[in-house]
Amino acid sequence: MAEEIKTAAEVDIPKLLSSQKAFFEAGHTLDVSERIDKLKALKELIESKEKEIAAALFADFRKPEFETYATETALILSELKFTIKKLGKWAKPKKVKSTFLNFPSTDYIYSQPYGNVLVLAPWNYPFQLSVSPAIGALAAGNTVVIKPSEYAPATSQLTKEIFAEVFPEEQATVVLGGVETSEELLQQKWDYVFFTGSVPVGRIVAKAIAPNLTPATLELGGKNPCIIHKSAKIELAAKRIVWGKFINAGQTCISPDYILIDKKKKTEFTEVVKKEIKAAFGEDIKKSPDYARIINKKNFERLQAMLEGQTFITGGETSPEDNYMAPTLLNEPSLDSEVMQDEIFGPILPILTFSDETEIEKIINHYPDPLALYVFAEDKDYSEEILKKYRFGGGASNDVVVHIANKNLPFGGVGSSGYGGYHGKFSFDTFTHKKSISKRGTWIDIPLRYAPYAGKLPLIKKVMKRI
Ligand code: NAD
Repeated sequence: MAEEIKTAAEVDIPKLLSSQKAFFEAGHTLDVSERIDKLKALKELIESKEKEIAAALFADFRKPEFETYATETALILSELKFTIKKLGKWAKPKKVKSTFLNFPSTDYIYSQPYGNVLVLAPWNYPFQLSVSPAIGALAAGNTVVIKPSEYAPATSQLTKEIFAEVFPEEQATVVLGGVETSEELLQQKWDYVFFTGSVPVGRIVAKAIAPNLTPATLELGGKNPCIIHKSAKIELAAKRIVWGKFINAGQTCISPDYILIDKKKKTEFTEVVKKEIKAAFGEDIKKSPDYARIINKKNFERLQAMLEGQTFITGGETSPEDNYMAPTLLNEPSLDSEVMQDEIFGPILPILTFSDETEIEKIINHYPDPLALYVFAEDKDYSEEILKKYRFGGGASNDVVVHIANKNLPFGGVGSSGYGGYHGKFSFDTFTHKKSISKRGTWIDIPLRYAPYAGKLPLIKKVMKRI
């Protein structure tokens, strides 16, 4: 594992921000074709660094090269490709229907960049979650400072080098550092803050930016339920859940946190899960090149504490020297146990059962709004009912995690799992203020609105009823 970044920022933060303010105010970010050229350059550079990105993530937590490509590099390249293709259209003022009240007028929505954006990123998808919001911010015509996580130092350092090669510091830059650096960044006045991380730090961020009324997106976490109905295809469900739960060693904000399965199907399901774990990672999982490690000691110990006093259906093996934790299934832990308190964020999967709907409801409603929810069922009415009934950020039926891969879907939480959404056009919209503009004609001026109002009320009533 690479050494954690402990230092305070190596740059003068107020000076950096004032240089970005000057750059923005001089209008240097406004030319859309220049924005596109920069994004193209970023794309080319990332393409050429595919191996280095894989090596950095391997150094940080032994993330397999395949997973780095599929869940970080390829997602970023596809986001860049889509943004480059569509940006010209998105950035144009959008003409909308005008209202009879303003006749004659032509009305538009202008997408105005906010200005200076701060992106604070976590360690679990350290490349993707630093770069993806920055793509949206830059495409929208903002400047950006990215503060990646101190827990993924190799990736954070490489991200810094990549941005330095494409952008002048006044437009986009990466600032390395730990909590102290984050705190100093949050003391500045930004025009938009995009935070991805835990719920407690999300609260700190929201509080820090409140005095300036800074708009923000908070991408947080939660306890994501995964419901398995008796009509589900159990083998397929097990295969997809094993993939989505143990990718990145379970350190995924939208991975299923716990299973809620029909009591009658539990044994069948857990038997197939055991087989699928073996099929994916072999007999000696520790030696598998396809299984990542826990990011650091602190998180390893946090997860290990969750195993205490639990009954294992499978797994439970750990080795502290390299932060290894086997894919682990827990047999019906009580809701009072440590593992059922907060988001697990590791390769531990509690298996809970239900006999009827009220039991599902009781468990799901025991927790704040999750970031994701999944339901496996062949009974489409059943899954539709579940998808409509509960409040959660996003999710899927008959699969897990995959909704993140579609750029046409906004990605984000609700309630305590966060607010705002991004990806594709939603990123562009997130980082632009929508200015409403009425361009009035001057060839006629209808006198109805002007005082004195005597005798005009019946007419205005008629007009207002038409809009
Ligand atoms: P974290 O909240 O500890 O850290 C995130 C960022 O905040 C880091 O850059 C860190 O330096 C900074 N930070 C930490 N403490 C701070 C403080 N006191 N003041 C100011 N800044 C501070 O999160 P993490 O451990 O890096 O990531 C894991 C969490 O992120 C999980 O809860 C997970 O669900 C969530 N997450 C959410 C999404 C999403 O898209 N919704 C994606 C990935 C991770």
